[in-house]
Amino acid sequence: TLSDRLSGVFDKLRGRGALAEADVRAAMREVRIALLEADVALPVVREFVEKATEQAVGQNVLKSVTPGQQVVKIVNDALVEMLGSDQVDLELDVAPPAVVMMVGLQGSGKTTTTAKIAKRLTERGRKRVMMASLDVNRPAAQEQLATLGTQTSVATLPIVEGQQPVDIARRALQAAKLQGFDVVMLDTAGRLHVDQALMDEMKALADISKPQEILLVVDALTGQDAVNVAKNFSDQVPLTGVVLTRMDGDARGGAALSMRAVTGKPIKFVGTGEKLDAIELFHPGRVAGRILGMGDVVSLVERAAETIKEDEAEALAAKMAKGQFDLNDLRSQLAQMQRMGGLSGLAAMLPGVKQVKNAMANGQADDKVLVRMDAIISSMTMKERTKPELLNAKRKIRVAKGSGTTVQEVNKLLKMHQDMASAMKKIRKMGGLKGLGALFG
Ligand code: GDP
Ligand code: MG
Repeated sequence: TLSDRLSGVFDKLRGRGALAEADVRAAMREVRIALLEADVALPVVREFVEKATEQAVGQNVLKSVTPGQQVVKIVNDALVEMLGSDQVDLELDVAPPAVVMMVGLQGSGKTTTTAKIAKRLTERGRKRVMMASLDVNRPAAQEQLATLGTQTSVATLPIVEGQQPVDIARRALQAAKLQGFDVVMLDTAGRLHVDQALMDEMKALADISKPQEILLVVDALTGQDAVNVAKNFSDQVPLTGVVLTRMDGDARGGAALSMRAVTGKPIKFVGTGEKLDAIELFHPGRVAGRILGMGDVVSLVERAAETIKEDEAEALAAKMAKGQFDLNDLRSQLAQMQRMGGLSGLAAMLPGVKQVKNAMANGQADDKVLVRMDAIISSMTMKERTKPELLNAKRKIRVAKGSGTTVQEVNKLLKMHQDMASAMKKIRKMGGLKGLGALFG
């Protein structure tokens, strides 16, 4: 991951006052690779790296973080900014019926997404929605939408054989008006590649149906070609937003950045599966994390911020720095972890922090274990908690009895505490969890 790769650069950069250009460029080479691996289109990578470098050079390094982390923060912030800092929903507040037109290449997921959005609008937005397929190219395309309509209980425009797309669109608008629908969704035909006939058809359809929203549907796995697709559509049709499908696959989401950079339009939804409720609003922060390969660090930090009190963390950080992480601290850590979704949840969210994962594996990442560990520490005297080395065989037996556990479990806890104490010293050196919090919070 990027953080692994950057750690080499981190070390070189440590202990300087301000980020020097050469250092930033070295870090940005790694960022560039990460972006290309995430399938961000090359011209977009170039532009982005240049911008981020400018922002980074000369910035003072914050006390609580390493220069490398600071670079990651700058890159992350720049990504989020470029992806659009806010979630943007559909804007359909007009005299009904509001028209939503879906465009994109064949197989990008237009028809599926049409049904997903219609279902969402019906269920969450309590709108009356009608869908119409304008795809007369692909055999059975109109039937496909009708079937999806039945599955989602959304009305579809009755099929009339032999009608051209523009006529179907007119009929859809008329029917929607007469029957009092709030929203009409127009599912258009795609092509395997962008061509002028397709663009002309899209333009004609946009002209007569005056859509509130024209959404470009793009497969997140499109990769480097995403830029051409986006450019072609965006030049000829007045897009209002983008939907990125197949984000459930192994796509890192680089196409999101390319789309945004080329169209200048917000990404409104992401498709996360074949099921008809597999659609979500776009979260720029999450996708930035995914593009950088930093796992779900952002949501980890968000959850951490909810549960960890600032001064508590401060005191703990100070103790860790001095190598004084004792069993009382472990106990409050355990309680925090429980609030954050347990050991397994935490471990899953911390890519790259192997030491902690290992410590957790040794402690058997299981939430019932947290409760037993708490009982063990409760059965110790205050002195034992601050000086675990006092715990000889005799004391261990007493603690095990007092907590209803076994000496083995007491030993396991002590081992885990040792592992964590040394892991935390290492993390602390790298800026600490709180450092991460300051980075992303
Ligand atoms: P269209 O040609 O643009 O209308 O594409 P379709 O809507 O017919 O979708 C093509 C295929 O992609 C279908 O098999 C869909 O089930 C699948 N698909 C669409 N969106 C997603 C998604 O978000 N995730 C996954 N895994 N599959 C999707
Ligand atoms: Mg289709």
